[in-house]
Amino acid sequence: MTRNPILITNGRVLIAKSLVDTDILIESGKFKKFGTHLESNLDNLEIINAEGKIVFPGIIDSHTHFALQQGNFKTSDDFSSGSKSALFGGVVFFIDYTMQIKGETIQDSIDRRLNEAKNNSYIDYSFHLGITDWKESTYTEALNLSNSGFPSFKMFLIYGDKGWLSEDSAIFDALSRLSTKGAIIEVHCENDAIIKLLTQRLVKENHITVKYHPLSRPKFIEGEAINRMVYLNRFAKGKLYIVHISSLLGAEIIKNAKSNGINVLAETCPQYLTLNQEVFTGQSPELFATCPPVRTDDDIKILWQMIDQEIFDVIATDHCAFSKAQKAEGKNDFRTMAFGIPGVEYSFPIIFTEGHLKRKIELYKIAKVMCENPARIFGLIGRGKIKEGYNADLLIFDPEKKHILSSKTQQHPSDYCPYEGKEVYGVPETVIANGEVKIKDFKLLGKKNGEFTKRFINTN
Ligand SMILES: [Zn+2]
Repeated sequence: MTRNPILITNGRVLIAKSLVDTDILIESGKFKKFGTHLESNLDNLEIINAEGKIVFPGIIDSHTHFALQQGNFKTSDDFSSGSKSALFGGVVFFIDYTMQIKGETIQDSIDRRLNEAKNNSYIDYSFHLGITDWKESTYTEALNLSNSGFPSFKMFLIYGDKGWLSEDSAIFDALSRLSTKGAIIEVHCENDAIIKLLTQRLVKENHITVKYHPLSRPKFIEGEAINRMVYLNRFAKGKLYIVHISSLLGAEIIKNAKSNGINVLAETCPQYLTLNQEVFTGQSPELFATCPPVRTDDDIKILWQMIDQEIFDVIATDHCAFSKAQKAEGKNDFRTMAFGIPGVEYSFPIIFTEGHLKRKIELYKIAKVMCENPARIFGLIGRGKIKEGYNADLLIFDPEKKHILSSKTQQHPSDYCPYEGKEVYGVPETVIANGEVKIKDFKLLGKKNGEFTKRFINTN
């Protein structure tokens, strides 16, 4: 596809660690040149005046669940509406998941998802490969796949009922044989057996409405599982990545592990950085039910500290959106809940507002965890930074323009917004992906030309 050249003038551009006053020339989908008063006489040049605006690297959301069937529930988005919503949040690339059904090959699960996404996404994408059936043939297949575009895998310590749970031995084997050859092993860390025990206790007391769901998975459930995985990886020496860390107990284990030189990568999500357990005392607690659950202000404080101290590596959304009616079906019995909340569209404005404006976390640290690190860790070469020769992925926003998040104005098809009424800054007004203007003046110009993109084993 030929792309017209673009000249962005007068913006303050986040390059490496600082905001730089520079114009940007984009050619053939790449960042071509930087400098003040750049001029160009190229044909079909589009000029975007970014005066008073910040130009920020495009967001890479490395944890989404579009078009997911969860038990009886299908998410309220598909790849089309999900990627469109993401684009309005400044996301230029997402990594979703395939999920192996026991007995099938990983390739079978890839084919299904590639088929669903094909010609259906506004932005480029890739998949982490969910493994549920670890055996010798799975290992061989996974090793091949990690060298041919899919260098990251996901394993679960919970969801035995769905057939997704992996034994510790399977994860240890994957870390020590597959991951030592470069692949990332992501693990959902909660202790399955103790969740079952605590759930049984709650059932006995007839405490099964959704407000009790956090009591079935307290913080130590997460902390214990992270601790176990980190300890195993001390000996397995793989590349362990912990998804959606919600608690200070989990965060402290990561901090200690890193200071002891154990290889572990840590992700958290906007919901764990902003929402607290008061949501479970409100009118519609079911709308906020996720696994793990949102925690307390103490947890939120520590998670932000870990971002400021650059201990956490990635902020991704774990976007998993259901409708109010679907969520309500689990309201009276959390065991039947459709867990998850939407996030792709709100993530950057929330992190900019809560992290940078409120907590004074420097912008480059936010770009690191939302753009640069996910691209580097998951092997997206030439993306994640505003830098000469890189893919021209960026968003432009007015840092002084206030927006109110609301289901009434959001692009996402879900009929609720977990941050309804929240005042935010940093809503992108222009989004460029691969050098193509996808959103301009808050309006969609892009088409569904996003492509599946192979990734590479990251060697640093
Ligand atoms: Zn997830």
